[in-house]
Amino acid sequence: MSENAHGKKLNGTVIVTYRCNARCSMCNRYKAPSKPEEEISVETIKKLPKMYFTNITGGEPFIRTDLKDIVRELYKKSDRIVISTNGFFTDRIVELCREFPQVGIRISIEGLEQTNNEIRGLENGYQRGYQTLKTLVDMGMKDVGFGMTVQDKNAPDLVPLYQISDEMNMEFATASLHNSFYFVEAKNIIHDRPMVAQNFENLVNKLLESNSPKKWFRAYFNHGLINYIYGQPRLLPCDMSFDTFFIDPYGDVMPCNGTKDKEVMGNLNTQTWEELWNSPEAEQVRKKVRCCDRQCWMIGSVSPAMHKYIWKPAWWVIRHKIKFWTKKKYSMYENRIVRDYRDGKVTKEELDRCSTCDLNAEINNGLSEASKEQLRIRTGEEIVDEDIAGQMRE
Ligand code: SF4
Repeated sequence: MSENAHGKKLNGTVIVTYRCNARCSMCNRYKAPSKPEEEISVETIKKLPKMYFTNITGGEPFIRTDLKDIVRELYKKSDRIVISTNGFFTDRIVELCREFPQVGIRISIEGLEQTNNEIRGLENGYQRGYQTLKTLVDMGMKDVGFGMTVQDKNAPDLVPLYQISDEMNMEFATASLHNSFYFVEAKNIIHDRPMVAQNFENLVNKLLESNSPKKWFRAYFNHGLINYIYGQPRLLPCDMSFDTFFIDPYGDVMPCNGTKDKEVMGNLNTQTWEELWNSPEAEQVRKKVRCCDRQCWMIGSVSPAMHKYIWKPAWWVIRHKIKFWTKKKYSMYENRIVRDYRDGKVTKEELDRCSTCDLNAEINNGLSEASKEQLRIRTGEEIVDEDIAGQMRE
């Protein structure tokens, strides 16, 4: 029986749209937008269960002009809400934060100015993102931060960007490259693993030397990212779909955003939450999760696991804080696979095979038939650009 049946609050992610105005090099979602009229309605959101945490994401969530109505409804059932955004629609973000000063905002910034703009493909993306963050901090918003997806190109910017966030007293969330239907991508892969791991090691040491227990646990998360980019089994079990869920713009409830193809537990437009959460389809998905071999290490699936299996990260933190007091720092070579690669016991090709990168994969983007249909005559970029231009005229 699912844990929710006992009234336990869940951890949910609401993908409010697949429309996006950025052009990130590691995510092709902008090429596969959802149709606005099909996107999850406030009526469907009313059917969601109680949650202790909700992440609102996209696409770019602020493309939706009714995002405030969605947030208002979600606050009736969620203790904490964080919105992931590219930070482009500064006015909309500021306006929403005026109504909901307790909301968390994570703006994706992929590196210092030039690197960010190259990776994100947004004109003045860095300046806009940075300005939005600064405006929010000046407004007195407490839960504001950067999100960075680390790859070969931006790894050297990892610590400098962390330092900027630290000076601004902001959260700093990291991720690395993943492949899935959600990202409409199967070719993402880290090429120079030791270089990227070295930058993670530097960050781990910065986080460990701070006085913030929260940052010490972030250090553990980043240690897990080194493990992930070397294609190793997750440091913690993945319990997605047991007390965690994702819901897509079509109301389909899924375990996560890391699967190769979309896995559906049920549809909240047509079912009640109890029906879908306790359905045979949901149980089937849970069985698949139990033997999933994708080894994702994204905050959405790791944060609940870190809470649930707290002793494991806590023990890691204690050991490393003690090491710090004896002046010994964290080293990426604590990970056996990193040593093995350095010592030539494992080849790059072998590590590449452990990743989810599949150059021949056929990607199913998870769009509805109607959303796919609109792509027959126009590109996703054209559709969304026109859509935004229309919104601006209004
Ligand atoms: S490892 Fe977990 S988060 Fe990743 S695809 Fe499998 S079930 Fe989803």
